[in-house]
Amino acid sequence: PDSLARLRLDTRFTDALPADPLELARPRSVQGAAYSFCMPTPVAAPRLLAWSADCAALLGLPATPDDAETFARVFAGNQLLDGSRPYATCYGGHQFGQWAGQLGDGRATMLGTVIAPDERRFEVQLKGAGLTPYSRHADGRAVLRSSIREYLCSEAMHHLGIPTTRALCLVDTGEDVIRDMFYDGRPRPERGAIVTRVAESFLRFGHYQLPAAREDLPLLKTLVDYTITTHFPELGAPSKTVYLAWFREVCRRTALLMAHWLRVGFVHGVMNTDNLSVLGLTIDYGPYGWLDAFEPGFTPNTTDQGGRYAYAEQARVAGWNLSCLANALMPLVDDIPALERCMDFYADSFESAYLAMLRDKLGLPQQGDQAEDFRLVSALFACFGAHDTDMTIFYRALSRIDAHTSPADAMALIEPAFYGEPADAARAAFATWLADWQARLREAGESHDERMARMNAANPWIIPRNWLAQNAIKAAEAGDLSVLERLMRAIREPYREQPEFADLAARRPDWARNEPGCSA
Ligand code: AMP
Ligand code: MG
Ligand code: MG
Repeated sequence: PDSLARLRLDTRFTDALPADPLELARPRSVQGAAYSFCMPTPVAAPRLLAWSADCAALLGLPATPDDAETFARVFAGNQLLDGSRPYATCYGGHQFGQWAGQLGDGRATMLGTVIAPDERRFEVQLKGAGLTPYSRHADGRAVLRSSIREYLCSEAMHHLGIPTTRALCLVDTGEDVIRDMFYDGRPRPERGAIVTRVAESFLRFGHYQLPAAREDLPLLKTLVDYTITTHFPELGAPSKTVYLAWFREVCRRTALLMAHWLRVGFVHGVMNTDNLSVLGLTIDYGPYGWLDAFEPGFTPNTTDQGGRYAYAEQARVAGWNLSCLANALMPLVDDIPALERCMDFYADSFESAYLAMLRDKLGLPQQGDQAEDFRLVSALFACFGAHDTDMTIFYRALSRIDAHTSPADAMALIEPAFYGEPADAARAAFATWLADWQARLREAGESHDERMARMNAANPWIIPRNWLAQNAIKAAEAGDLSVLERLMRAIREPYREQPEFADLAARRPDWARNEPGCSA
């Protein structure tokens, strides 16, 4: 179709390289290269299951595919775009704190870089398109369940206003994949799928760590120079000072991202250094989850026994990951104190972004007394600790209370956020907190409407909670995509109350209490 033929691919880098035959991949250790050409492995019966009109618009593609069959072939990897030379990139990483060597991309094949109508450049990649040189002992495939989760959450995150990789579409491969979800003692075959992901860059901390660990300085320098000239041109021509400025900018973006995640109750679940983007994007939607009840120690990742990547650990762990990136950049920068100052800058940036975010969530003035604000926040978290309270519903309810709302009315407004009946002591704690908070509102003197607008812009009305994804997956596995489609419509305007989607903005139902997130 014309729309695909009109896509402009940036072939500057791929054209410059010898036209070696495009081969299917053989997993191996790849030295001295940041990527390897490799073909997607064709699938049996590609079928387009979902298409994000919002993401398509970024690339200049139509809101609905003009030829679903061709689109399905292209976004399954069965048919190449004109000029495309697919490749997979090479990165390493620390997994749960341990250096794991060469890891990826084990199942992401880049189709190329699209030059969008507005001249921005977007990398387009297929996740689950088969073996790459980096697949190690795995199959390079993804299951429908995890692909729906990635598709849904990427787009939701974008609409929440949080930097993220995007998802263009979801394709059913028509093939089964064997995964180790055991039922009756047997591995269960599951339907395979491919998500087309889109981002200005998929570069991760691990891309720099691997050449650094191998002491391949020329490759490290080439990659960092490429990153700066392509994605951070405003920093100037690469030099020692510019390398530092770049690392400082990665620190700044990462700090902002962590504040955003905490704001909406997102738990990434696998914050290994290969899953952190140097552009500060949310990347790799695996066993992620969302807070229902506010629980600082919550992690959706059932393999994370120690809670390393729990909700409230994320900012600290991002700092740890940044220190790994700093180590990788040491040979280029050669200035430990300067790198340490960047790490301090990360901590300061996070703290100020977090405080500003909390003030908006609570409708407190941005110029208030910092110690008082943190005191009020800890008192609120103590209330959440005293009784399971839905974070998202609570903050939206709070915005409807004003300085003069009576204690009984205020309590009635937050009541829908409670899971079960609070004990008297918990109820009393909330009542005391509400009175304190209302006293602060009286001091601040901002109008109710202004404060409410500010709070509602920081507090989403709807988030793609785990149980909503589970319902969409269950229906899709049975061939019904309408549940996913409806959820996708609801999450397009997450800050607006949409009565027609009230069932999707409700508290987690009891059946979903201990449902884990899933990755595979
Ligand atoms: P993750 O824990 O999702 O960040 O994955 C870690 C690495 O394992 C990444 O480089 C993935 O590309 C790779 N990987 C995960 N699942 C598969 C799979 N089914 N086949 C090949 N590689 C995989
Ligand atoms: Mg990953
Ligand atoms: Mg993953």
